[in-house]
Amino acid sequence: MSPSFAVVNIGQLVTLAGPARPRVGAEMRELGVIPDAALLIEDGRIAAAGSYHEIKSKGLPHALVDAERRCVTPGFVDAHTHLVFAGNRAAEFEQRIAGATYQEIAAAGGGILNTVRATRAASEDDLLAESRRHCDWMLRTGTTTAEAKSGYGLDRETELRMLRVMARLNAEGPMRCACGPRIVPTLLAAHTVPPEFAARRADYVRWIAQELIPEVAALKLARFCDAFCDDHAFTVEEARAVLAAARAHGFELRVHAEQFRAGTGAALAAELHARTADHLEAATSATLDALRSAAVQPVLLPGSVFALRRTQYPAARTMIERSLAIVLSTDFNPGSSPISSMPFILSLACLHMALTPAEALTAATVNAAWSLGMSNEVGSLEPGKQADFLIHEFSDYRELAYFVAAPARPRVFIAGREVTL
Ligand SMILES: [Zn+2]
Repeated sequence: MSPSFAVVNIGQLVTLAGPARPRVGAEMRELGVIPDAALLIEDGRIAAAGSYHEIKSKGLPHALVDAERRCVTPGFVDAHTHLVFAGNRAAEFEQRIAGATYQEIAAAGGGILNTVRATRAASEDDLLAESRRHCDWMLRTGTTTAEAKSGYGLDRETELRMLRVMARLNAEGPMRCACGPRIVPTLLAAHTVPPEFAARRADYVRWIAQELIPEVAALKLARFCDAFCDDHAFTVEEARAVLAAARAHGFELRVHAEQFRAGTGAALAAELHARTADHLEAATSATLDALRSAAVQPVLLPGSVFALRRTQYPAARTMIERSLAIVLSTDFNPGSSPISSMPFILSLACLHMALTPAEALTAATVNAAWSLGMSNEVGSLEPGKQADFLIHEFSDYRELAYFVAAPARPRVFIAGREVTL
């Protein structure tokens, strides 16, 4: 494909154009839809998005892509994933079906620690190969930008190895297109306490704050720092120690908060002005007010509620009513959410959280881009942004959520280059 081309014959162009800030309230339903549209791409970026007649009047380039009257949207931005890991937990999947809970499996040394053992044992090349496979799954369903967390190493060597794998994935090309970073790395050493520190948790927290964080900052291997604040993970005080150290070293913050119990991290996210508070299934009204006041974006992860066979989805409607700029993500990981597909997450959000398809799409694109500090580059189809877009098999964006788990394959473009898998 030449650097300049136009996508023509677009039946429905969903631009997500709008105010230069995360979308809230009724704005989440305003998608900037243009019927009978075209997109002009120059040097991998959007040069113009408009009606076909408008774009044609500017002069069409020779190279054209025919969208065949289908729907075109921005690529999905998955703002919460654990895509770098070795092995899988299919055996625990079976145990949970038989009645064991996620917490019981974790307490018996399984769960996250199971994946920690496999990831520590994997070479960097093997870990890269497994992670690339996960990226390919995500790409096939239209994810063009993904945040990725460390946290299956919990020791210096493996945490750095995971972050180097993310850097290598980016060097290969964002989702293998060789055109700029699209995997956003997050340090999550505070994922759980590793067995060798079980009797001295404080030492582990101190090590993260005083040794690992400065080293990762010096190596520039992560942009964000995250902590899992929960009864079987880290207390609010422990998470504060990690996150405050991270902030002092220039990281922006994300927090796994209030997944199972209120009072586990959302207030801390507000206090530290984290970019995001993620999960929030158990968040209270007071918590939501604190998050809004501090401009913290909730990242909602219905995939983990679904895959853990729980029934308490986050209160997304209340959050929208309270003007919180919600984000939807997969939480793709080998335990609580082995779900890599953003369209499936849109279906869950509509069916179980009563989001409209438009709200879900906003949360999965432009709002997610804001939460990653990537809003100047991705998340909407506006002039100047990266040409990361999808030509769907559908003619109407609502079909993305409506045809649940459809084996649909969009044509995927990153920086104006079509991805072939
Ligand atoms: Zn997570």
